[in-house]
Amino acid sequence: MIEPDSEPLEPDLLPTDKDRSPLGVDGPADISTKSMKPPSEQSEQETVEIQLTGPASGSPSGSGAPALHIRSDGLIDEVSDEVAELFGMGPLTGQHFVDIVDEEEQESLERLLRLVLEMRREGLAEFSIYHPERGTQRFSAEAYPTSGADGVGVLLEITDITDKSEARKRIESMIPWVRAITRDSDEVILLVGPEVGEHLVSGSTRTVLGIDEKQFSLLHLRNAIHPEDQMRTMLAFEEVKENPGNVARLKFRTDDGADGWLHIEAQVSNRTTDPDVRGVVYMLRDVTERTIRDPVTGLPNRVLLLDRVEQLIAARAKSSYALLIIGLDRLPFVRGTLGPAAADAMVSVFGERLLGLVEAGWTVARTGEAELALLATGLHSNQEVRGLVERIGKLSEQSFNLAKQELVSSLTIGIALSTRGYLVGRSMLHDAQTAFERAREKAATGGRQVANTQVLNQNVDRVQIETELYRALSEGELRLNYQPIVTLQDGKLRGFEALVRWKHPERGLFGPERFLSVAEESGQIVALGAWVIDRACARLKRWEKYTGFAADLQMAVNVSARQLGDVGIVGAVEQALLTHRIQPGRLKLEVTETALIQNPEAAAATLRRVRQLGVEVALDDFGTGYCSLAYLTKFPVDALKIDREFVSGTEGILTSERGEPLARAIVDLARSLKLDVVAEGIETQEQAAALTSLGCKYGQGYYFGRPLGPRLARDLIARQDG
Ligand code: C2E
Ligand code: MG
Ligand code: MG
Repeated sequence: MIEPDSEPLEPDLLPTDKDRSPLGVDGPADISTKSMKPPSEQSEQETVEIQLTGPASGSPSGSGAPALHIRSDGLIDEVSDEVAELFGMGPLTGQHFVDIVDEEEQESLERLLRLVLEMRREGLAEFSIYHPERGTQRFSAEAYPTSGADGVGVLLEITDITDKSEARKRIESMIPWVRAITRDSDEVILLVGPEVGEHLVSGSTRTVLGIDEKQFSLLHLRNAIHPEDQMRTMLAFEEVKENPGNVARLKFRTDDGADGWLHIEAQVSNRTTDPDVRGVVYMLRDVTERTIRDPVTGLPNRVLLLDRVEQLIAARAKSSYALLIIGLDRLPFVRGTLGPAAADAMVSVFGERLLGLVEAGWTVARTGEAELALLATGLHSNQEVRGLVERIGKLSEQSFNLAKQELVSSLTIGIALSTRGYLVGRSMLHDAQTAFERAREKAATGGRQVANTQVLNQNVDRVQIETELYRALSEGELRLNYQPIVTLQDGKLRGFEALVRWKHPERGLFGPERFLSVAEESGQIVALGAWVIDRACARLKRWEKYTGFAADLQMAVNVSARQLGDVGIVGAVEQALLTHRIQPGRLKLEVTETALIQNPEAAAATLRRVRQLGVEVALDDFGTGYCSLAYLTKFPVDALKIDREFVSGTEGILTSERGEPLARAIVDLARSLKLDVVAEGIETQEQAAALTSLGCKYGQGYYFGRPLGPRLARDLIARQDG
């Protein structure tokens, strides 16, 4: 598999409230209202990440490009000579960056910096600076988030665009013409590229998005996106931006300027390599009306229902939800005898009755001729689902008054529950529909009219994942993120743990919990595991070329039960070490106790051979499995990883009575067996301190850094070097 030379910056899985990261500042919610706080006012969570040595010297970007670095309080703290020359000003360090740019642009620039800082996303800005000799100069800047011992900041890589490129001139000259032609278009088209700048190419942002043309920019659009859609949308934007030729179609909601949200359908295409375009094209269309209403009942239609299900899936809701398809059995009869108007009235009345049952956040939709759907969220037990079904069933006792006729209708209900772990809205809807059909068949033969799909379609999603995983493996959709592991005493970087992610082309980023069990069952884990080992070693080598410090770093790779039973893994490890010329001691395999006891003989044999190569082995998630001393002596291991359950979980070191003695016991046990100890899941400074005082040597967790894309990980290493 070929990996591109410079990989796009990869944000980790969407953060939840719990996993706020010192690197990742915080979630997407209120970016527009937050101000940049000086470090003294920032909470420790926000500033402390990994104790790094000073920043790299020379150009702040390390790449030799004109660049400057801004701290979180807006002050410049590093400038390359080229920038000083371009700006033609005296010493820039210590000055407020926004103060030196054209006054009119200060506010929008400040907003951009804040966004980069808080969302940890790249941004693109343009601004003018008055040069004492050359007059007003125009610059574009790519902005990148940074983090280090002094807190977070923003790195700007500056390009002088005063003398516009030919491409830019040409595009600018064409835009008024294109806009005139497309004046009445109901699609907003935006072109954005480092070389050509940002242009509204077509459509009226006022009529389509409710945003004034003068205020409109990509940044403004991002700010207007619904908080729940923001991360997903930005990830998709980011991905397209990074990959020439890529196209993404997505939907998101934006603030309609009043109390509601607009449903926007967007197509984003990266046409940077097309000489006639040279930028990313954003096409936006308001589909609110088309998307949401069934004309007869005024209820959301199938499309919106699907959208809502997708959103629940994407949000990985903690509580369960259920999708119920409810059929009015007498509707076809009513249509046939009393006519379509009566049938329409019947569905409308029933829709209203159903609405009488819903709680906040639920959706009632019309999914078919005689069918309505109810998406019920926040469910905690099957009991609640049964209660709900009963209440709906009671509706069948209420009669309809249609064309002066009183009549009642029985109901048929099909249910799909989120506990199936759906990956796509369509499969949930499909399951509910199948259950509905089954229920109807049963009803026809006098059976119960409610069917539950839980068992029925158990395998649908797994099969889908399995099929798609083949493609993921062959098309390079898998990625590795790297989470820093540090020496607790001094906060120095010790190495990384490679964690696999699946960047699904349509459905965004999946964490391992979504596909590893399928990969294990289907046997794909063997190929996947070999890929992970190979890529992790390749990455280690590549970092080494960048920075001398990397030569000491260790890379931990997770290995699962099935892999341990497969002899091929030893070959895969050997091959990777040879191909990438990695000292065996720098690779560490992490295995869980549960994996060991599934097939103890084979596992022990595999581990022995791996260790003969000189590769280290760590026992992962220690304390959660069978935790017996016998296993520790039977299996050759070099280190224990204290499970995050005992660090920040329910048995947390500072939050539960058992936590501290447990952690202490594990550390003592490791010491007596001369094993290293790594504590996982350290989320606060207090947890780090408590573990340090127990004598735990290494630590890992969001407090020190989230799993990072290769580029951010490299930056982290580079800063250790300085
Ligand atoms: P693990 O090996 O125990 O990895 C640590 C997990 O804890 C990672 O989740 C990481 O993101 C998460 N984590 C790190 N710091 C914190 C923290 O401060 N708080 C909390 N709450 N969580 C933290 P992730 O990436 O979702 O991985 C889950 C599991 O999937 C891993 O657990 C590992 O067993 C498995 N896995 C990941 N990548 C691979 C792989 O390439 N191959 C195999 N076989 N398994 C993998
Ligand atoms: Mg692990
Ligand atoms: Mg673990």
